[in-house]
Amino acid sequence: MTSETTNIIKQTEKYGAHNYHPLPIVISRAEGVWVEDPEGNRFMDMLSAYSALNHGHRHPKIIEALKVQADKVTLTSRAFHNDQLGEFYEKLSALTGKSMILPMNTGAEAVETALKAVRRWAYKVKKVPANQAEIIVCEGNFHGRTITVTSFSSSDEYKEDFGPFTPGFKIIPYGDLDALKQAITSNTAAFLVEPIQGEAGIVIPSEGFLQEAYQLCKQNNVLFVADEIQTGFGRTGKLFACEWESVKPDVYIMGKALGGGVFPISAVAANEDILGLFNPGSHGSTFGGNPLGCAVAIAAMDILEKEKLVERSYELGEYFIENLRMIESAHIKEVRGRGLFIGVELNEQARPYCEKMKELGILCKETHETTIRFAPPLTISREQLDWALERIKLVF
Ligand code: PLP
Repeated sequence: MTSETTNIIKQTEKYGAHNYHPLPIVISRAEGVWVEDPEGNRFMDMLSAYSALNHGHRHPKIIEALKVQADKVTLTSRAFHNDQLGEFYEKLSALTGKSMILPMNTGAEAVETALKAVRRWAYKVKKVPANQAEIIVCEGNFHGRTITVTSFSSSDEYKEDFGPFTPGFKIIPYGDLDALKQAITSNTAAFLVEPIQGEAGIVIPSEGFLQEAYQLCKQNNVLFVADEIQTGFGRTGKLFACEWESVKPDVYIMGKALGGGVFPISAVAANEDILGLFNPGSHGSTFGGNPLGCAVAIAAMDILEKEKLVERSYELGEYFIENLRMIESAHIKEVRGRGLFIGVELNEQARPYCEKMKELGILCKETHETTIRFAPPLTISREQLDWALERIKLVF
């Protein structure tokens, strides 16, 4: 029996590079928290495209904004102004409290942008000698897949056969203040950190680390750069995960949910003393700041506020984590998370559990072998979480 699903997977595997290992399901329709395969089987999406779908699939107001804008103008390039970019800037500036925004498309591009910004700041403001700027990052980090970003990964799997790598990065253990203190020199431009490590398996740093690291950065004239690409826009029960420790980073890096699960748009936010150092010709992107992406992001930011997605994530996250912790199973080592950003650490490989959950109608994905990540859309209801919990219990 060859189903449509089987044929599509065969075609995809035949012609595509094998840089992913997806679960054997084809999604051909989606709405809210639900997705459907070509045979009409329904599944609950508990991954949310790695937190890009915080608003759920095809939020009607985001789709409306997309359609309205698609009927007007989609792309201008930055050779000209467009009528959406200013509003997008103003809204994101208000959300982050930063005076300047620089738009890109993907998360990795926004990280690259932040790296360029802090290096330029180091030379122009901090007066670090030419080409000596250093950036401190953490073990287990995930900031994207470009060569430079891969250069400071601590994972061999991400780096194998991709050298030579970009110099200028130091890696310290995540959450280790002493190591941060020792790594800082007069040439240190910035400390780049995920406030909760996502790809590493929803790893929350020890309490106080972010705040103390921030203080250490301030004492040493080092910029604190938060990669909020996966954790931002309500995912962890706060607008930005740095708020868990009342940290206002010098630089925010954002992506994923900024595009409402519809259109890739990313951005860096910082004050003028940092982003103001870019001049024409120093950075750019053909699609960065395009009116279609901006219109979608404006709608996505509006919905976040109007539908109180941050508060929902906080409350429902507590409920979900509490219920997951009540599952008694020798296979579960730990349940950790904040808001609807949850990792279930197992004593064994996580993938077979994800496959079993798929059979029961729940889509989630392992990260780093032994962790199951649960990150449903923030629009999910308590009843839908109960539906999921009933099924999750069955696999353990
Ligand atoms: N930074 C973090 C924290 C991420 O989780 C990701 C993606 O998972 C990225 C950067 C890269 O984003 P993108 O895949 O859009 O390039």
